[in-house]
Amino acid sequence: MHKYWLNFKYAVSLGKPLLIWRLVKTYLGIIFYGKRPLRYVDFAIGYSCNLKCDHCFATALEDGTMRRGVPVDKNGDPRKMLPRGGVGRERITPQEYGRIVSEAMALGACNFSFQGGEPTLYPDLLDYIRAAQPSQNVISVTTNGTLLDREKIAALKRAGVDILTISLDSACAEVHDAFRGMSGTFAKSLATIKLAKEMGLHVTVGAVVSHENLYSDDFNQLIKLVTGLDCILFLALASPVGEWANNANIMITPEDREYLDDLCATHPLVRTDFEANWVDHGCGAMKEIIYLTPYGDVLPCPFLHTSQGNVREQSLTAIRANTLTNPYFATYYDRCLAAEDPDYLARYNKGFYKENGQPLTIGEIHESEIHQREKVGDHSC
Ligand code: SF4
Repeated sequence: MHKYWLNFKYAVSLGKPLLIWRLVKTYLGIIFYGKRPLRYVDFAIGYSCNLKCDHCFATALEDGTMRRGVPVDKNGDPRKMLPRGGVGRERITPQEYGRIVSEAMALGACNFSFQGGEPTLYPDLLDYIRAAQPSQNVISVTTNGTLLDREKIAALKRAGVDILTISLDSACAEVHDAFRGMSGTFAKSLATIKLAKEMGLHVTVGAVVSHENLYSDDFNQLIKLVTGLDCILFLALASPVGEWANNANIMITPEDREYLDDLCATHPLVRTDFEANWVDHGCGAMKEIIYLTPYGDVLPCPFLHTSQGNVREQSLTAIRANTLTNPYFATYYDRCLAAEDPDYLARYNKGFYKENGQPLTIGEIHESEIHQREKVGDHSC
């Protein structure tokens, strides 16, 4: 019960009556008509970042030269930053993004999230937020929190932001700073968490949990710290992509999953993706969640690096409908595909990308599978 109350509290703002109306309609649709609406659109507005985190998944999807806050474009226009390999693909503009938002809302989405890289580095972040129709939607920004001050938080709030998601890797400043590749980040992020709460925003603290840190004293201390601040602790399960590619030791085991489920049941403020779903408990990728790259590729979530299509070439509706025919996405899978399913990872998250750094498309993966089978004389489906 507490879980639903928390979902409600974080989603509903009395200053957004249109959003309340949309949420009520959505829940009625789920309960009485068995609808399966999209819930959450996570948009990476660009991959530039001021930090160098050990576990960054975005490094797999971007060009190393455009991260660490170094714009490729000499005039500093982030829209001209180049994707990996230097092959220029223009970022989705706020106008294009507005069109995608309308389509996603028609599919049921009511939570639009902005991430990066570090989204607050981008001067046009507010343009994208306004394009997300904040009066009708929950708006969240995922940030490392190191670049925000009172004035910037006030500007985000005025633009319609409801939730800041700020990541902490540890309750210990030295450990967090070592992960982030820069000293002083723990103190700054913690100060931003407290300031954002004081200014009336909801704050979720994001942390990555792996087989290696799940049972550690440090992780228990992090739970105490975050719940003591009355924030949700959102656990992203470590996935062997990006800087952690080929590191299978981090993957969550079935025993770890049981432990995590117990943890979430006993600490209502601690949750994974599974607890945030509208319809069912399990992986919500493509059913409730989609991740949009700065160049319009639709991925099932930030950790599943297979492009299901590009919104510049196809409608979001068609891309989603097509992906939901794949058995991995047709149901609420009982494991995190990115962190707990070696078979899925071996088939779809192969850890390689096209020459321009963009993820392989689902069609390209299926074509290469057919090609491989033909080579070995296997003509089964
Ligand atoms: S694979 Fe599913 S459960 Fe795992 S992070 Fe992605 S959406 Fe969440």
